[in-house]
Amino acid sequence: MVQIIDGKAISDEIKAELKNEIEELRQRGITPKLTTILVGDDPASASYVRMKGKACDRLGMLSDNIPLPESTSQSELLAQIEKLAHDPAVHGILVQLPLPKHINETIILNAIPPEKDVDGFHPINKGRLAAGEDTFVPCTPAGIQEMLVRSGHNPEGKHIVIVGRSQIVGMPLAQLLMHKKKGANATVTVCHTGTRDMGFFTRQADIIVAAMGRPETITGEMVRPGCVVIDVGSNRIDDPECEKGYRFVGDVHFESVSKKAAAISPVPGGVGPMTITMLMKNTVKAAGASHSG
Ligand code: NAP
Repeated sequence: MVQIIDGKAISDEIKAELKNEIEELRQRGITPKLTTILVGDDPASASYVRMKGKACDRLGMLSDNIPLPESTSQSELLAQIEKLAHDPAVHGILVQLPLPKHINETIILNAIPPEKDVDGFHPINKGRLAAGEDTFVPCTPAGIQEMLVRSGHNPEGKHIVIVGRSQIVGMPLAQLLMHKKKGANATVTVCHTGTRDMGFFTRQADIIVAAMGRPETITGEMVRPGCVVIDVGSNRIDDPECEKGYRFVGDVHFESVSKKAAAISPVPGGVGPMTITMLMKNTVKAAGASHSG
């Protein structure tokens, strides 16, 4: 029987631990606070921002969202970030991506002070991760590492094949897992669109992480028996049989892969809940560090 790596259950476990840390901070007069900025009215982005706010509420953290119109200029957005940067009550600042085309994402992300960059996207934090220093690790890679360790599949000594090299998932995950540290120290291979024969690599993997944004692309014939598969993909596909007319599938063909794998994370209910929980964890860390003197 394949083991289903339940991201919801693991994230509940982490949230219970976080509650204790939040209580300790509260006794020191600190309540961790996350402020999100949402530019425009994209429904998916609005829903992600709401989910982040709700997650804060449930943990007894503070949160607020600053909604800005689509027409907001880059300098107006920078001014807003500057204000939050100087607000001692705000520990984490998150600008919801994607931004409207007239705003340069890199300039905006670089304006968030590294000590409030709970997404881990600032170049200083990226550099710290590459150097193996303590930092805010981007939430999805951090969540994947926790999932592997807590489900009994510690990456140490394993061959991990990551499919995708984005700045948000694949690249930081590769760095995180190859460091000579606990819960890491893996041999990492990264595949991308320039990889000639992806199956050649995935069939050699002890652990596969699929993060390419291509529905059900990793199939049973691309995995070796007994491997562990983490599906990061979240792809909306039309399905007239569903009430909403669509549903979400991962980058892994669950039916064929689950017949061969020893363990697999589902979509939904796998990496998704972990990502939000790691955002909470980073915000609590930022709050603790901000008052550590
Ligand atoms: P992205 O920025 O589009 O990057 C995709 C990566 O996959 C790129 O490196 C690309 O290669 C590679 N790729 C695409 N098609 C490929 C193919 N056919 N063969 C080999 N490599 C291929 O995507 P992302 O932001 O990393 O997100 C990936 C997926 O994860 C998406 O479905 C996204 O929705 C999901 N996601 C989920 C969460 C969550 O919390 N559940 C969080 C983040 C992302 P090149 O570099 O060569 O273009």
